[in-house]
Amino acid sequence: MAVEPARGLPAGEADGRRTEADVLVVGAGPAGAAAAYHLARHGVDVILADKASFPREKVCGDGLTPRGVRAIQGMGVDPTEAGFVRVDGLRVYGPTVVLDLPWPKLERLPDFGVVRTRHDLDHLLVQRAVKAGATLWERAEAVAPLVDDGWVVGASVRREDGEAETVRARYVLAADGAASRFAGKAGVRRDPTRPLGVAARRYYRSPRPQGTYFESWFDLWENGVILPGYGWIFPVGDGILNVGAGLLNTTSHFKEVSPRRMLDVFLRTLPEEWGMVEANAEGELLSGPLPMGMNRRPLALPGLLLLGDAGGVVNPFTGEGIAYAIESAEVAAELVHDALASDRPGLAHSYPIELRRRYGRYFTVGRAFARAIGNATFMRLSVLYGFPRERLMRFALRMLANLTDGRDGDLDDRVMDWIVRIAPER
Ligand SMILES: Cc1cc2nc3c(=O)[nH]c(=O)nc-3n(C[C@H](O)[C@H](O)[C@H](O)COP(=O)(O)OP(=O)(O)OC[C@H]3O[C@@H](n4cnc5c(N)ncnc54)[C@H](O)[C@@H]3O)c2cc1C
Repeated sequence: MAVEPARGLPAGEADGRRTEADVLVVGAGPAGAAAAYHLARHGVDVILADKASFPREKVCGDGLTPRGVRAIQGMGVDPTEAGFVRVDGLRVYGPTVVLDLPWPKLERLPDFGVVRTRHDLDHLLVQRAVKAGATLWERAEAVAPLVDDGWVVGASVRREDGEAETVRARYVLAADGAASRFAGKAGVRRDPTRPLGVAARRYYRSPRPQGTYFESWFDLWENGVILPGYGWIFPVGDGILNVGAGLLNTTSHFKEVSPRRMLDVFLRTLPEEWGMVEANAEGELLSGPLPMGMNRRPLALPGLLLLGDAGGVVNPFTGEGIAYAIESAEVAAELVHDALASDRPGLAHSYPIELRRRYGRYFTVGRAFARAIGNATFMRLSVLYGFPRERLMRFALRMLANLTDGRDGDLDDRVMDWIVRIAPER
C-alpha cells in the first residue's frame, strides 16, 4: 500500500540527490536492510544509507540458528542455495564429554541453521531491500540527527566524502550497529546494568574435515583457572572455519581478560592437527562488542526507533544478534508503516512496548543467566555437572537459543516464569 508523501516537507528530487523520504534508515546491516525491505514492500518511500559500500566485512561468527534462518527466509532469501553451509545443531565440548545436540523439531522454526560470511550475507540482504524498492545510498554517513521541536525529522548525511546535507524524513530508523554513535547523538545511552559481551574471531583454513555442527567450548583454562568465556568453531565452507571466543562483562575479570586473549587460549587448547596456526590464518583477527538484552535506553524517541545492535537487541544467552536485528526491524517496519498509513504517529512509538512484549521475559531470564555465568564457581559447576546430563543439555539448548514453540504452560514456559519470579531484575 502506497503511503501519502510527507506533509510540509520540501519535495525531494527523484534522482540520487534526494533531500527527503518517508523513512531514512541509518545503517544497512541485517537490521537496516530488513527494515528497508519490509517498508519498501509496503510501498513506503525509504532511503537506506550506509557509510560503507557492499559487500563489506563485519566481525561476526557468521552463524544463524534456525531462528536466524527463519528471519532471512522472511526476506525472501533461500538458505538452501549455494553459498550457505547447513548446520544441524550444536556440539558442546566439556571437560569429560562431547555432546551433539541436534536442533529441536518445532512447528514454528526450520530444523537447520546455516553459516555464511557476513561479507556475503549482508550484501544479499541489502540486495533484497533494493529489489523490494528501497533507495540505497552507499558511502553515506549519517553524521547527526536533525531535531525539530523534540522530534527527529531527518539527519545530516555526508555522501561520498562531500559536504553533509540535510535529509528530511518522517521517521528515522537507527540501525547503525553496536557503537550507535548516531543514536547516541539523539540522547540514547547504554544501560550499564545490562550485560555486554565482547568477542574476537579469525578465519582459518583447516585440514580438519568440516562438520555440520556449530562447535563450542565452555571450559577454557589458563594456569589452572577457568576463564569466564567460551570459544567457537563454525564451518564456513571450502575448508575455512570461523574461529572465535567471547566473554561477558558480568565476570569480575572482565577488565583483565580481553577477547583476543580468550581466543589465544582457545587456539592453544585445540589439537595441533587441526592446524589453527598463523600460517593457516586468513585475514586479520577482529573483535567487537555485543550489546545484549536491550541495553539501550530509550529504544525510541519521537521520530526515531532503534533497531538491532543499536538497540542492544542481542540474545544475552548466546550473543546471537542477526535474527534479533531482523526481527526487531520487521516490528519497527510494521509499526512505522501503520503509523504513516493511518497518520497516527503514536503507533510507531509503541515499538519499545512491542519489543518488551516479545522479548521482555526471555531477556530477563537471559540477563539472570549472564550474571550467573559471570560467577566462576557457577560456571565451573555447570560445566562439570551439567554437561554430562544430555536431557538437561537439550533443554539448555532450547532455552539458550530461544528455540521453542512458545506454547503457554509447556516446560520452557514454566521454567522461564519461575526464573523471572526469583531473579532480582536489574
Ligand atoms: C565477534 C562477534 C561474533 C558474533 N557472532 C554472531 C553469530 O555467529 N551469529 C549472530 O547471530 N550474531 C553474531 N554476532 C552479533 C551480530 O554480529 C550483530 O548482532 C549483528 O551484526 C547486528 O546487526 P545490525 O544490522 O544491528 O548491525 P551491523 O551489522 O553492525 O550493521 C550496522 C551498519 O551500520 C553502518 N553504520 C554505522 N554507523 C553509520 C552511520 N553513522 N551512517 C551510516 N551507516 C552507519 C555500518 O557500516 C554497518 O553496515 C557477533 C558479534 C560479534 C562482535
